[in-house]
Amino acid sequence: MPAETCDVLVVGGGPAGSTCARQLLRAGLDVLVFDKQAFPRDKVCAGWITPAVVESLELDLDDYAKGRVMQPIRGFRIGTIGGAEAETRYDKAVSFGIRRCEFDHYLLRRSAARLALGEAVRSIVREDGGWLVNDRIRTPLVVGAGGHFCPVSRMLGVEPGSTPSIVVAQETEFRLPAHERGDCGIEQDVAQIYFCPDLKGYGWCVAKGDYLNVGLGREDSHRLSEHVELFRGWLRARGGIPRDLPGRFNGHAYVLYPESRRRLFDDGVMLIGDAAGLAYPRSGEGIRPAIESALMAAEIVLDAAGKYPRAKLAPYADRLAQRFGTRIPGKEAAAWLPQSLKRSLATRLLATTWFTRKVVINRWFLHSEQRAMVPG
Ligand SMILES: Cc1cc2nc3c(=O)[nH]c(=O)nc-3n(C[C@H](O)[C@H](O)[C@H](O)COP(=O)(O)OP(=O)(O)OC[C@H]3O[C@@H](n4cnc5c(N)ncnc54)[C@H](O)[C@@H]3O)c2cc1C
Repeated sequence: MPAETCDVLVVGGGPAGSTCARQLLRAGLDVLVFDKQAFPRDKVCAGWITPAVVESLELDLDDYAKGRVMQPIRGFRIGTIGGAEAETRYDKAVSFGIRRCEFDHYLLRRSAARLALGEAVRSIVREDGGWLVNDRIRTPLVVGAGGHFCPVSRMLGVEPGSTPSIVVAQETEFRLPAHERGDCGIEQDVAQIYFCPDLKGYGWCVAKGDYLNVGLGREDSHRLSEHVELFRGWLRARGGIPRDLPGRFNGHAYVLYPESRRRLFDDGVMLIGDAAGLAYPRSGEGIRPAIESALMAAEIVLDAAGKYPRAKLAPYADRLAQRFGTRIPGKEAAAWLPQSLKRSLATRLLATTWFTRKVVINRWFLHSEQRAMVPG
């Protein structure tokens, strides 16, 4: 049987894959997106996006909100687990809470790409200057957007666990309509963030429409479940969540940008999003870098005009470095949290409105100093 063909094969239909596919398709390329899961599917995530993400995705908020959750966030309560806390409010939405099962599905459908869902990419073989994928599809270019465990990333030679700076996180998302929230004191548009006492991670609690998302992520994988349990117990003891959380915590891992050792491209292949290890070092957020890397990769692909030797794809690495800074593999990175900051000082700073607003929220979480990347 003759093999099926496409101009570009994208592995992974998350935000990175669907954004890249959409851009390429708009320029007239035949794009096929593979995902091992059928959509809608869930993704372990707190699900916060910034207005910059909305802009880069050219999201029509009214259209999106039809039957989906798009929770405006206008304030943050920040502190340390068991310590003091501060609250900061804005006069407009500075972030939005989305549900990944809805968000990713919406973006993938909107991309209008051909889809092969429920089929994992198992084999990628170099043949005649192109690729043969799963023994049935030929393509000159493979874009790896398969997240932390992306098979394209593995093919390029770096195993998922080989990077020093890996975030491990667990979250649970469950239905808890406003009228069932009782005395939990959860404000619909105020996200709560509480740093671990050792400053190696933070827990969160955020309402999204009729749902609540609670989780904790750390740069240190030791005893993550214990940290999650402690955080949950603390929230419960102060009456911040219902006594019995339905649903269990699900875990995932991913790489923070400056320390990522993943090869970003090679002949006929590129990595974007978590597959490339691009999440922001201080907040651990990765949706914006996933989308921005997808936009950059799509531009480079279109400039290459059908021929994809290494040399033509190399500007991609330069674009990433310009946007996110130079990678420093093997060295101590800027780290998710400022380890250099003395703990006691940090704990006190985290209880001040000035520091939590100007530094933690505006810089680390919202990246408000960086303008949105608009599709070309
Ligand atoms: C607990 C937690 C909370 C987080 N909270 C936030 C947050 O609030 N805001 C934020 O910006 N970021 C957050 N992140 C990070 C964010 O989830 C990721 O950075 C983002 O999902 C990366 O998008 P992506 O498209 O690169 O990969 P993904 O979203 O992981 O998508 C990868 C896709 O590839 C598919 N795939 C994998 N292997 C194969 C295969 N072999 N064949 C075919 N398909 C395959 C998967 O099924 C998946 O659909 C969080 C992460 C965690 C773990």
